[in-house]
Amino acid sequence: PQGLIVKALSGYYYVLPDSEPASGSLEERLVQCRARGIFKKNKISPLVGDRVLFELTENGEGTVDELFPRTTELIRPPVANVNQAVLVFSLAEPDLNLPLLDKFLVFVEHAGMDAVLCLTKRDLLDEDGQREMVEAARLYEAIGYAVFVTSALQGEGVTPLMKLLEGTISVVSGQSGVGKSTLLNALVPGLNLATNEISNKLGRGKHTTRHVELVPLDGGGWIADTPGFSQLDFVQLEPEELGSCFREFKGYAAGCRFRGCVHDQEPGCLVREAVEAGNIASSRYRSYMAFLAEMRDRKRRY
Ligand code: GDP
Ligand code: ZN
Repeated sequence: PQGLIVKALSGYYYVLPDSEPASGSLEERLVQCRARGIFKKNKISPLVGDRVLFELTENGEGTVDELFPRTTELIRPPVANVNQAVLVFSLAEPDLNLPLLDKFLVFVEHAGMDAVLCLTKRDLLDEDGQREMVEAARLYEAIGYAVFVTSALQGEGVTPLMKLLEGTISVVSGQSGVGKSTLLNALVPGLNLATNEISNKLGRGKHTTRHVELVPLDGGGWIADTPGFSQLDFVQLEPEELGSCFREFKGYAAGCRFRGCVHDQEPGCLVREAVEAGNIASSRYRSYMAFLAEMRDRKRRY
């Protein structure tokens, strides 16, 4: 039979069989499996999120025999087949950090996932903040990202986000203190993650050993119960690949005069022209150029 690994703990993988009728609690339906020796030999281990072929043994346990090919693979948290990242950015406390958002978007695009933007702590906004929020929402929606504005503490704006997560495997990501845990608690009744920056900091050691689990969403689909990738660098990205991680560049980049144009000083660069004409937001191009400089700098040093 086939199934989905939703939890991994002390050498066991907990597989939810596909065939199972939806009765009984999730815990009751999970099959506790060991991985076949072949995995160890090939130095790949099954991950939470893996779709697998498994075999039932006596005593109601099982063995994971084979993994289906992964569509994506995250390291933090270690989850396979995540197709959507909810990027949580607070509108205040800490202030909205759009350059950092652009960095997260590069990571998400490069990993082959969809990004959903969640702007949180709306309740803390003053009038200037409101304007900034509307501008940011417009900018990223125009690029093609879904944008949600929430006050997770009050549970406001969470329902539409939940709808979009239906049927996906998602992970929540963002800086420390922006409200990821609070949002997860609002999305998954009964999850009860510890919130606020201080307890997260104290729990950091605990977090690293904590095992990630996929928890089911009300309308179907799964979400990782541990926030993911909070710090990023561009270790695995070449400068020539950066442009393709900026969605709105793609249509223009195809027409640049030089193949491999990195949209810096090359003549005949349609991306730069689009920035000058106001068709690409200058803030996005600034982020792009800053990341390009970072990548070049890293290349020089290593
Ligand atoms: P995390 O580090 O990203 O997981 O952030 P937490 O979920 O732990 O939240 C950090 C702090 O922000 C906590 O004190 C939360 O109570 C607070 N917080 C989270 N969401 C909201 C919100 O929508 N409005 C307000 N006012 N505070 C929030
Ligand atoms: Zn170009």
